[in-house]
Amino acid sequence: MTRSPGGLVYGKFWVPGDWLGLDQDKVCRGVHRVAFYLVHGRWPEPNALHGCGYPLCCNAENPQHVHEGTLKQNTAEMFERGRGPLPPVQVGSQAHRSKLTDQQAREIISRAAAEDVSQQALAVEYGVSQPTISYVLRGKRRSLQ
Ligand SMILES: [Zn+2]
Repeated sequence: MTRSPGGLVYGKFWVPGDWLGLDQDKVCRGVHRVAFYLVHGRWPEPNALHGCGYPLCCNAENPQHVHEGTLKQNTAEMFERGRGPLPPVQVGSQAHRSKLTDQQAREIISRAAAEDVSQQALAVEYGVSQPTISYVLRGKRRSLQ
């Protein structure tokens, strides 16, 4: 399970790599993506989105719940529902402090490795800038095991 800064919980499944034609034992995929795969027999292009806005929902039989779309579209839908992340607020000395916890930085690194998720999408989800994500992924900000 992954907890996003907004407190939403996303379920994750490990699925056999050959489901995606990958030469890996297991890959990590969001539950709703796996649900879409199981219902439709193919992976959502490019992403599976929640029409209902409920991150744990995996009702892929009903497109009003889980449907295909782009992350850009997903972000637009989140804002329509008033669920989008607020722009980061920087006040005084806090402006120079990291806005990501070590836990979040590790999550970002492992998700970027396991999922086809863009830096921009991660930036929106974690409420930081894309260069911050890039920074974390290049390991310049943190030395993580
Ligand atoms: Zn739903």
